[in-house]
Amino acid sequence: MSKYIFLTGGVVSSLGKGIAAASIGALLEARGLTVNILKLDPYINIDPGTLSPYQHGEVFVTDDGAETDLDLGHYERFTHITLKQANNWTTGRIYDNVIKKERHGEYLGETVQVVPHITDEIKAAIKSTEGKYDVIISEVGGTIGDIESLPFLEAIRQMRYDVGRENVFYAHLTLVPYIKSAGELKTKPTQHSVKELRAIGIQPDALLCRSDIPIPIGHKKKIALFCNVEMDAVIGAIDVETIYMVPVSLHNEGLDNLIIKKFGFEEKEPDLSKWKEVVRRMLEPAHEVTIALVGKYIDLKDSYKSLTESLIHGGISNNTKINFQWIDSEDIEKHGVEKYLSDVDGILVPGGFGGRGIEGKIETIRYAREKKIPFFGICLGMQCAVIEFARNVCGLKGANSTEFDENTLYPVIYHMEKWFDFRTKTLQERSTESNKGGTMRLGAYPCALAKKSHAINAYGKPNIFERHRHRYEFNNEFTGCLTDNGMIISGTSPDGSLVEIIELRDHPWFLGCQFHPEFKSRPTEPHPIFSAFVTACLKEKRSLFPFIADSFTEEYAADSF
Ligand code: GLN
Repeated sequence: MSKYIFLTGGVVSSLGKGIAAASIGALLEARGLTVNILKLDPYINIDPGTLSPYQHGEVFVTDDGAETDLDLGHYERFTHITLKQANNWTTGRIYDNVIKKERHGEYLGETVQVVPHITDEIKAAIKSTEGKYDVIISEVGGTIGDIESLPFLEAIRQMRYDVGRENVFYAHLTLVPYIKSAGELKTKPTQHSVKELRAIGIQPDALLCRSDIPIPIGHKKKIALFCNVEMDAVIGAIDVETIYMVPVSLHNEGLDNLIIKKFGFEEKEPDLSKWKEVVRRMLEPAHEVTIALVGKYIDLKDSYKSLTESLIHGGISNNTKINFQWIDSEDIEKHGVEKYLSDVDGILVPGGFGGRGIEGKIETIRYAREKKIPFFGICLGMQCAVIEFARNVCGLKGANSTEFDENTLYPVIYHMEKWFDFRTKTLQERSTESNKGGTMRLGAYPCALAKKSHAINAYGKPNIFERHRHRYEFNNEFTGCLTDNGMIISGTSPDGSLVEIIELRDHPWFLGCQFHPEFKSRPTEPHPIFSAFVTACLKEKRSLFPFIADSFTEEYAADSF
């Protein structure tokens, strides 16, 4: 039988509940236990796929093609789980299920209500992998006191009665703010938050107290007394230099010990050596590179969460610190490329939607190609690289994607209306009129790599699976023209019909991929293309500045551990 951990949040949002849930997962795995992690989101959208990145940050895509909350990215990066649609539930999805059942007559004439029908549906979601894992962690989105999260809280309260109190652990993440003028840490917000939680019927087993500075024993005692928890259940969650320090930091505060004891698991030391090595490499890098990220949502870094983490992972495998240079592609349109890109070691153009800032991205790519700066284009970034090459190398004036210009004479990127989905073994058909939600090529698709390419050098194997999230595709009508002029198609779907990776012949490292490799990178297993990109940036930097050559050895290249 599985044990259940429920993580709620109090006082304010953005305390890092996702990282906390992921870190608990990492700690339990380090003790040899199997874990699953679920995110229960109180908003009404069926999934975050239709939400603007400004509203909700990145949409994380799973192998099975689910568009999920960005916290699921943390869960995968911190553990070995491959998440699925069933790991992310929203109020919308729960109600949608209940309403569908009601329409099918499954409630046999009953009045359908929040309790028990909605709460039962939530519990069924939580218990859907019962018995398959030692521990199932569920993070409840939002903050205690929100109206929206009440059905979820009621459901997790009931879980204790359903599966037995010895099988349930409630952890509550709160804030212990430091008030500068008083020179003191304040426990009152935590007391209030726990009071609220207890009013709903949930008595926490542990409090994770976010704080700028270590929480003194006296304050921990006070929190324990007022919140009705043991002293050792008041866990300091102190600000750390990198999120990858959190598992070790929570372990040092005794969190995993507490959980293990409560559940009656064997008490042995966890193996945290991988996490310590990740942190060591991040804090003591041998090199550094500056990478420009040219996009349009740059004010909201959360919309590129997996991407920045993957670059950091590529840095970890190269023992290299990544300095990010965030550039709005519209600024490039206004002020030119030189101003922003003349002193970077590598350029990355990430994914995106819509035409704003596209010409700036294309100018950026032209600069990377002509100046032979390592370039990595992801999804929209790859599409822009094809447009740039078609226009400026092949002479196809006005070449474009039909996403930005429906009437272009040279639609090198076009709206794909039919493709074969190997998972369902069905032909997928879409039109521009289709619903916006869930109508893209989504999830992991196979890709066959060409011999003698950067791609195969990086992966070290000919067949890969990578995750997609896009509507538009490379148009094969132009393959001949592009390859005759020096483009290399280095990855395609196994039947050759979908172009997945492009490279350039006369360039040290120029790679664009139609998929999103950032969804499959972990700090302990950096993604091969990100590692290879950072290696290329280092190599090029070394060729420009030979005095740093001595300190760089190739042993770090694509070095996973
Ligand atoms: N807008 C492009 C498409 O839909 C690229 C999407 C992306 O970068 N994820 O194909």
